[in-house]
Amino acid sequence: EQTPETCAGCGVAIQTEDPKRPGYAPASALARETVICQRCFRIKHYNEVAPVSMEDDDFLRILHGIGATDSLVVMVVDIFDFQGSWLKGLPRFVGKNPILLVGNKVDLLPKNINLNRVRNWMQHEAKERGLRPEDVILVSAQKGVNIDELLARIGQLRRGRDVYIVGVTNVGKSTLINRILHDYGSADLEITTSPFPGTTLDKIEIPLEDGRSIYDTPGIINRDQIGHMVSPQDLRRITPTARINPKVYQLNDKQTLFLGGLARIDFVRGQHQPFVVYVANNLYIHRTKLENADEVMAKHHGELLSPPTGAEAAQALPPFVKHTFKIPPAGTTDIVISGLGWVSLRGKEEAHVVVHAPKGVSVGIRKGLI
Ligand code: GDP
Repeated sequence: EQTPETCAGCGVAIQTEDPKRPGYAPASALARETVICQRCFRIKHYNEVAPVSMEDDDFLRILHGIGATDSLVVMVVDIFDFQGSWLKGLPRFVGKNPILLVGNKVDLLPKNINLNRVRNWMQHEAKERGLRPEDVILVSAQKGVNIDELLARIGQLRRGRDVYIVGVTNVGKSTLINRILHDYGSADLEITTSPFPGTTLDKIEIPLEDGRSIYDTPGIINRDQIGHMVSPQDLRRITPTARINPKVYQLNDKQTLFLGGLARIDFVRGQHQPFVVYVANNLYIHRTKLENADEVMAKHHGELLSPPTGAEAAQALPPFVKHTFKIPPAGTTDIVISGLGWVSLRGKEEAHVVVHAPKGVSVGIRKGLI
């Protein structure tokens, strides 16, 4: 008898080495008569889609494939980490296909946020990166917020075409697919028959009534995500799990705020004013005099200033680089540190602020969202 080389569910090559990569099956599963990969196993038995990530080449091949179809492309980003969750290269590949941009994790945003501003900001950021989405929708896959609206909008925009859901890892794409499967799956979409695609592309297929399908594609890794620079434990400490409660610091110039040991915000020049910090609720924030900041960092990075947890983890971070901003005295301005959160300023005079963050972490300003 022969060892089967491909998954009977999705057709991907079976491997027993890396559970995070496509086609993984535990070695014990190879003894079975019909071998399916762990991902298909979970879909079949638990109706649950596990995240899977791919190397760039495989993924580009899939993106190419999407460009060649006539379809609606739904791109999912994490509102909390726009830069880190941006799927690079998409504009080149989608061709003429319309794009619906979905901002996930809306449940984390503070109560008084202006959601229209969030959507406008996302439109703007997308345009800057060469993408012009038909619409922007904010959802929470985890809490089930706005999923009806999302599906309705997909229904309008797809006009009889297939739908491809794309995104980098960690944006919550699997959670979203599972939400769609659970809430609309069996009843409306007849998913129970067979969710397995019959092609060699490992994508999950959710059949639609008109014979078309929603396809979930594997996530690609974006190295700019702060999550790839810290340990999984530290990632859990910086990722908000509940609605963010802003913290207000009344600062004079020549003062510094440390966000754990992952970012440092120097208030170099400007009027006494509140710095409102929006980060994971239990991230440690340390205030010090600017003149002492270098020393505090040298002494306490990885210890008091953590995450990163431990001196070794602190050493392993990319070197810190400086980002200099002149904050205009009009309205509110947010300084966004991708993956960590943002800090809002609202002064009556121009303020000079320098942010230090590990190289690769995007730091920028936007019109305040509150
Ligand atoms: P994928 O890699 O894109 O498939 O992402 P996952 O679905 O595995 O989600 C990545 C992380 O984000 C997990 O810790 C999820 O619990 C979390 N997550 C997903 N959706 C939401 C959401 O709507 N809100 C919040 N707060 N977290 C979410």
